Formats: sequence, C-alpha cells, structure tokens
Amino acid sequence: MSVANLQSFTAWIEDYARVVSEQADYLTDLDRAIGDADHGSNMKRGMTKAAQLATDEEFTSVDAYLKKVGMSLVSNVGGASGPLYGTFFLRMAGAFAGVEEAGVAEIGQGLRAGVEGIVARGKAETGDKTMYDAWAPALEAFDAATASGDLAAALTAAAEAAATGRDATQDLVARKGRASYLGERSRGHIDPGATSSTMLLESAARTLA
Ligand code: ADP
Ligand code: MG
Ligand code: MG
Repeated sequence: MSVANLQSFTAWIEDYARVVSEQADYLTDLDRAIGDADHGSNMKRGMTKAAQLATDEEFTSVDAYLKKVGMSLVSNVGGASGPLYGTFFLRMAGAFAGVEEAGVAEIGQGLRAGVEGIVARGKAETGDKTMYDAWAPALEAFDAATASGDLAAALTAAAEAAATGRDATQDLVARKGRASYLGERSRGHIDPGATSSTMLLESAARTLA
C-alpha cells in the first residue's frame, strides 16, 4: 500500500520532462514518418516548462499543481498534443480536488478523468491509431489490478498494457490527427502520441507509488 502526495506528483512531472527530453529525437522521428516531425520537440518544450512550475512557485495542493501543469501545456504546446495532454492534466486535477494523499482508487479515478478529457477533445475511438490506443488498455489493466490495493502493481500493469497498445498501433491505419491524411500509408509505423503516453505511465509507475 502506498499513496501519492504533492511531492510524488511533482516528481512524476519532473521525471516525465526528463524522459521526453531524452527521447525527443525518437518521438520526432516517429512523427516524421506519419506526421510533421515535431512531437518530440513539442513534448520537450511543454514538459520542460511544466516541470519548471514547481521550482518557480510554491504549491499547496495536488489539484492546484496539476491544473497549472495542464494550463502550461495548453498554452506552450501547439498542435494536437498540447491541448490533449493539457486537458488530461486539467481533468485529472479536477478529480483530485480536496485529495492530498491519493491511493490506488483515487489515482484510478484521476487517470480515468484525464483520459475522458482526451476523448472529449479529440473524439478518438479505439483503433484510430492515436494516444487513446495506449490509454484505453492501460485504464482496463489498472482497474483489473485495483483489487490488490497495490498502487505500484496497478501502475506497472497499466504501463505494460499501454506499451502493448502502443506497439499495436503499428498495424493500424490512422483515422484521427495528421497521420489520417496519409490513409493506408500510415500503416507500418508506431503512433508518436501512443509512445509518449506510454512513457507518461512508465514515469507514473516510477514516481507515484
Ligand atoms: P501535431 O499532429 O499537431 O503535430 P503532435 O505531433 O505533437 O501534434 O502530436 C501527434 C499525436 O497526437 C499523434 O501521434 C496522436 O497520438 C495524437 N492525436 C492526434 N489527434 C488526436 C485525436 N483526435 N485524439 C487523440 N490523439 C490524437
Ligand atoms: Mg506532429
Ligand atoms: Mg505539429
């Protein structure tokens, strides 16, 4: 049993900023194949700014912190991924109003609220070859592991399911976002957003539990 507090959420954002910065070239290469070659630079710029928030400002609640992270992503990242990740964190923040110690149930609710925000904005369905193809199986795996009450196990299961979903985007034809302009030619490439979303869950498994 473990719980996540403001310090854990700060560590999550900082860890993810480090990962997307280190992997920026890789994410951009994925986006070069089926998009406009900016996903790595978008995520690096946005997350570097978001990670800086906790240094510049003293936060007193998880929801206030995640709300600022979301707003920062919306305003600093253009394209599809800024509003989508921004909405994810804004909706997640909403789920943590008044919650300072999040256990497996609260984290599950927070992730689900965030993903509902992604769907509300982007209207993606399973199989559209987007980040949702990593998130949907991740939520399922998280919920299946919730009964154990073990946050670390649930986050690890979610990250593993996301990775499987990410890999499965390779065989799909894109139906949303820029990649959909390529039609059949989008097949054979892993979706960049599904890749960065998997990284976000891997970071969560390292820092939130
Ligand atoms: P842009 O396509 O505007 O250049 P990015 O390259 O930063 O933005 O992000 C591309 C990623 O955004 C895609 O790989 C995909 O996962 C995700 N994406 C695009 N459109 C949608 C959508 N409607 N719903 C969910 N995810 C989407
Ligand atoms: Mg792009
Ligand atoms: Mg772009």
